[in-house]
Amino acid sequence: MFLPAQAPLELLQLDWLTAACVEVAILRLDQIDPLISGNKWFKLVEHLKTADRNGAVGIISLGGAHSNHLHALAAAGKRLGFQTVGLLRGHPQETPTVVDLQAYGMHLHWLGYGGYRARHEPGFWEPWRAQYPHLHAVPEGGGGLAGALGCAAIKAQVDAQLSLLGWRDYHGWWLACGTGTTLAGLVLAEAGAHPVYGALAVPEDHGVAVQVESILQGSGRTDYELIDASRGGFAKVDSALLAFIAQTELDCGVPLEPLYTGKALLALKQQVEAGKFAAGTRLIFVHTGGLQGRRGFNTHSVGS
Ligand SMILES: *Cc1c(COP(=O)(O)O)cnc(C)c1O
Repeated sequence: MFLPAQAPLELLQLDWLTAACVEVAILRLDQIDPLISGNKWFKLVEHLKTADRNGAVGIISLGGAHSNHLHALAAAGKRLGFQTVGLLRGHPQETPTVVDLQAYGMHLHWLGYGGYRARHEPGFWEPWRAQYPHLHAVPEGGGGLAGALGCAAIKAQVDAQLSLLGWRDYHGWWLACGTGTTLAGLVLAEAGAHPVYGALAVPEDHGVAVQVESILQGSGRTDYELIDASRGGFAKVDSALLAFIAQTELDCGVPLEPLYTGKALLALKQQVEAGKFAAGTRLIFVHTGGLQGRRGFNTHSVGS
């Protein structure tokens, strides 16, 4: 019932890949569904199953005013017909994301900034559970082991399409990391067969390594590498990044956004040009979506 549609897997045609004799196939998770986009859908699947098993009639979760997670959740609620409640960071504002959340029928509560910061405190959920006893609570971003397990389906989508590219195998994965949940899910699904390279959209001190380790704990898996792709901070955008995104879209038609996918592909270019991957290497780049959030940014402006 919760099976996402197949995302296309396409060869990326870019000069800097050709020059290095490195082949990259891009899994277009931005195209799995007209409403629901990107990795957030996969991270929700196990949470939706748990909600179902527990007899919950919907999901309550939290995020910011541009949140890809809340957007995917609200879209899934509309698509599959369950109730959604979103707890938002900050004060009421009308971003394109927020307009969609409301159009999809998500009920919103604005927590302010202090109220949102309290989300990790022990008593945080109590009043919300009391107010919405029939809803299942999902952590910020759909993280944790449940979120990671849903991402095994991403590998299945690639496996099903490799032969269409004429590939028998690949050498590894490359994808953007925010919490590292999706990366951890792929590491578990690979079970050592191929390494997973995570391009960090947040600075290294944001605890991604710890979160990945906590999800992988007990599995014994260490087949991954985290690379700083944050360019000075989460959501920090500079002119070289914007120029790269515009050029990539011109060259191969793939739309990227500046927070995750644009930074991840630019970091891959830098690593390829530095000789990290031998000629003949074949990689899977995951387009993790996020294009809905791009509407909230003036992509011509530079700064934090
Ligand atoms: C949330 C998000 C990520 C990061 O996913 P994690 O599982 O938190 O690492 C990457 N790309 C996009 C577009 C996202 O919305």
